[in-house]
Amino acid sequence: MEFCRSLPKIELHAHINGSISEKTMQELLQKRSQEGSKDPIERWTTTIEKGDKSLDEIFAMFKVIHQISNNTDAAYKITYDIIHEFAEDNVKYVELRTTPRAVPDTGMTKELYLESVLKAIADCEKEDLDIIVKLILAIDRRSDVNIANETVDLAVKYKQISNGKVIGIDLSGDPSVNDARDFIPAFKCARSKGLKLALHLAEVLDQNAETESVLDLPPDRIGHGTFLHPEVGGTESLVAKVKQHKTPLELCLTSNVKGRTVKAFDNHQFKYWYDMGHPCVVCTDDKGVFATSLSKEYKLAAETFDISQQDLYQLSYKAIDHIFDTEDTKAILRQKWCTFAENTF
Ligand code: IMP
Repeated sequence: MEFCRSLPKIELHAHINGSISEKTMQELLQKRSQEGSKDPIERWTTTIEKGDKSLDEIFAMFKVIHQISNNTDAAYKITYDIIHEFAEDNVKYVELRTTPRAVPDTGMTKELYLESVLKAIADCEKEDLDIIVKLILAIDRRSDVNIANETVDLAVKYKQISNGKVIGIDLSGDPSVNDARDFIPAFKCARSKGLKLALHLAEVLDQNAETESVLDLPPDRIGHGTFLHPEVGGTESLVAKVKQHKTPLELCLTSNVKGRTVKAFDNHQFKYWYDMGHPCVVCTDDKGVFATSLSKEYKLAAETFDISQQDLYQLSYKAIDHIFDTEDTKAILRQKWCTFAENTF
């Protein structure tokens, strides 16, 4: 574990409200109770320490978290704490992602929500934490095309205002709901405005048709891609498209096993893609909900697939190629990795 902790790392798939730590949740609950809130939730019970849950149960947990993070102060604190936690785990570059959310009862608009998140990022930057933070705005597939277009507009607006902190668009949310093809025009619009696309795809079975169409974009990165290959219900054609474009996969071992889309760690699609030399990036997904960290995910990958320290280093080093930020940032990061290698091997 010590090696995985000390290894410099890149996090490319982290949902803000799923990454909230238990400590942050407790502090938020305490503050709310001091302010007289009669939360129906007595205790923070949404971390899955052991065992697993169905995706439906996990999506119900996000609803609980959203009750607590329903105001701008909470959005600021959650983002601020998450960045500190990733920095402590030796993550040198993180792309956080979040769904813009309005809560009329607390006066939080989507703009105010995003401004709180961006303020937390800016404040962390002033602290010299040795972590670069970027933001991806998520389209929830449970929403409709108008909301998706609004999210793209917000991403364009805040990309400019934040001087490039907002860099991309994600598609996420309950994968069993709606059809990703409906959002293709929004993705194309986002791309035409200089935003990158990190899209959850083939997260559940029987989505070959929508996955096939979305892969034609092609996305800049794929989240999960659990059911792409024929052995698990995908197709040769899906695999061929992913290989043709060398589209990197964001792979989240604990999330997929605890969410029961993958039976066990050694069944994880990581093996299929990693063994063929395809770009794979180890990520956490929701480090709070799944009680994990990026170090733990690297350790899991190393133990499950028998990856040496040198190869683990290469896995983390190659992730730099797949960040959405500029070549200048990539060069800065590569220098850090080289310094680590010189001092370690
Ligand atoms: P938020 O966007 O910051 O509020 O983070 C929580 C949201 O991320 C959830 O409500 C989902 O829409 C999305 N999310 C988190 N984990 C997953 C996942 O594994 N699959 C699909 N969507 C997810």
